[in-house]
Amino acid sequence: MGAHELDSKSDLAALKRVTERFAVAVTPAIRALIDPTDPNDPIARQFDPSIEELNELAEELADPIGDAAHSPLPGIVHRYPDRLLLKLVNVCPVYCRFCFRRETVGPGNQGLSGAELDAAIAYISARPEVFEVILNGGDPLILSARRLVEVMAKLNAIPHLGIIRIHTRVPVVDPERITPELVAALQGEKPVYVVVHANHAREFSPEARRACADLSRAGLPLLGQSVLLRGVNDSEAALSDLFRAMLTARVKPYHLNHLDKARGTSHFRVSLAEGQALMTRLRGRLSGLAQPTYILDIPGGNGKVPVGPVYAEKAENGDWIVTDPWGCVHSYDEGASPRQPAGVKAPPKRSK
Ligand code: SF4
Repeated sequence: MGAHELDSKSDLAALKRVTERFAVAVTPAIRALIDPTDPNDPIARQFDPSIEELNELAEELADPIGDAAHSPLPGIVHRYPDRLLLKLVNVCPVYCRFCFRRETVGPGNQGLSGAELDAAIAYISARPEVFEVILNGGDPLILSARRLVEVMAKLNAIPHLGIIRIHTRVPVVDPERITPELVAALQGEKPVYVVVHANHAREFSPEARRACADLSRAGLPLLGQSVLLRGVNDSEAALSDLFRAMLTARVKPYHLNHLDKARGTSHFRVSLAEGQALMTRLRGRLSGLAQPTYILDIPGGNGKVPVGPVYAEKAENGDWIVTDPWGCVHSYDEGASPRQPAGVKAPPKRSK
């Protein structure tokens, strides 16, 4: 039950408990996209607090992807050898009701101090194996252009760093922040990839498209990140519209994330099997450019993996059983002597 459906005193008291527990913010740009007459509006569902958030399940976690276990110092999450997260801020222009960092983001949660940023930069500089730094948090594009210029200069000065990636919701939820000054602040010696978080086609308003176009025309590749959410995009039509909207906004769909088990988010949950079935149906319907990878972030900080669907499986006779985009099954014979990767035994020869 969303904020605009509440009618009793007890509902209002329950909603107050939600807003005391988790941060709430909705930008004017997002408010303008919400249809107040639709009790199931997919935009409102993402941003307006709901008393369903009080329903916390035993398996839900404060830190569902295990950031803390991989954080050697403030602002750094180092889970993989070649890349790490640099969390500059803990605030966002909106607070998504399903956010996996909902217990750490919010007003009043400070970002990195100058000394902490210097320590984080020193940590990255001392590790030549780090190829990629991912700015997220909090939303890094909530920072002023002046502050971003300082941070980008520090990152561009690290010789072994290959690329910088920025995860942000700003181009869709607060597109006015994408100014010429901010775009210029992101342009430096190293390539910057911008990963735009959006979950519904309607988020790509004309102003959001203008913001994406300005970033793209400045030479910043744009990738799309979405979360599979019950009541927002859990249908073939909603996902098709979303990924096509991304492409026409110059954003290549990159990841469709399975929902993390953050507290009070079970009303958004879609099963893995449903997610796989949706992805299978999209395969036959949409261009390959419109296909993101369906991803699970394994709880506890164990990393991200694609979770299918799987289209090719090895049969006992050594053939591959391949499913086409329309669900029909085919046998695929690799031929007499396909090259095997080192250490992989050739399958037994097929008996005729
Ligand atoms: S913008 Fe990102 S970090 Fe901020 S609340 Fe939404 S999902 Fe969480």
